[in-house]
Amino acid sequence: MSDAADGKDDSGTVLAVDVGGTKLASGIVDREGNVVRCDRVPTPSGDGEAVWETLVELVDRVRDGAPVAGCGVGCGGPMRWPAGEVSPLNIPGWRDFPLRERLVAHLGCEVRLHNDAVCLAVAEHWRGAARGHDNTLGMVVSTGVGGGLILGGRLIDGATGNAGHVGHVVVDPDGPACSCGGRGCLEAVASGPRLTAWARQHGWTGTTAVDLAGDARAGDATAQEAFRRAGHALGVGIASVAAVCDLSMVVVGGGVMGSDDLLRDALVNALRAHARLDFLARLTVVAPALGEFSGLVGAAAMVLAGDRYWSGQGAGTAAATLTP
Ligand SMILES: [Zn+2]
Repeated sequence: MSDAADGKDDSGTVLAVDVGGTKLASGIVDREGNVVRCDRVPTPSGDGEAVWETLVELVDRVRDGAPVAGCGVGCGGPMRWPAGEVSPLNIPGWRDFPLRERLVAHLGCEVRLHNDAVCLAVAEHWRGAARGHDNTLGMVVSTGVGGGLILGGRLIDGATGNAGHVGHVVVDPDGPACSCGGRGCLEAVASGPRLTAWARQHGWTGTTAVDLAGDARAGDATAQEAFRRAGHALGVGIASVAAVCDLSMVVVGGGVMGSDDLLRDALVNALRAHARLDFLARLTVVAPALGEFSGLVGAAAMVLAGDRYWSGQGAGTAAATLTP
């Protein structure tokens, strides 16, 4: 059987999928990390099968019958890894949904799946802002706070694929309760929903983090303080992780970082106050370089540069690990 006949090829083109609570995205990514074409659709709010049908329709449209060497997927957690049974917090219809297994059956190629924040970290290390920095943390500050850790030029998975959960670094032991059951985690202070919740508790009357940012820029003191607290918490959390892991760069993205102008001073001040060791003097904190494509590029990198970014087992179908 020829490669083309079973839908695989050796040209290095892979299918990438990015599953989020508000949108599903898919793209074809070449071995240089360029998104050759992509499309996206809103994530349906229906049951699990409705989400799956919408995803399959999108993926088939983007693939358009083209042979692919493999498929990389980024998806919100939690998940069982590397099995790829996903329970994204913001997709209630998927609980222990066998996404990887379903995609293997549908596509007929190897599928590699990881947390979406891990995919951002991988993308930024492979082709983005952290290129050339082999000890780096990639973070997403959004409805939650997630991350992925690259040490010695390789993605660190940990015992269960959960390494890099920077959102649960404790930044204030007496701080607000966290969704994980703990207290004072970075996510409990700096995530979008927790930012706005804190502001409302202190008299602000808006609803969204975007509104909160607008009010902060218009001079609302409570809104400004909400972002200052988040920036401070981010600086404290980053200083702690950077010291443990001897990082030279941290890439921070996600919707909340669209308000970088409101966070930056507090973040930098906290970093200066807490990252005092000599080896941390070179630490830089930067924005992602790949923008909206980072999820797709990182997902693709698990296939295209799997020697650095994939340590999970195969899914039973052979696919070459391509290392440009
Ligand atoms: Zn927590």
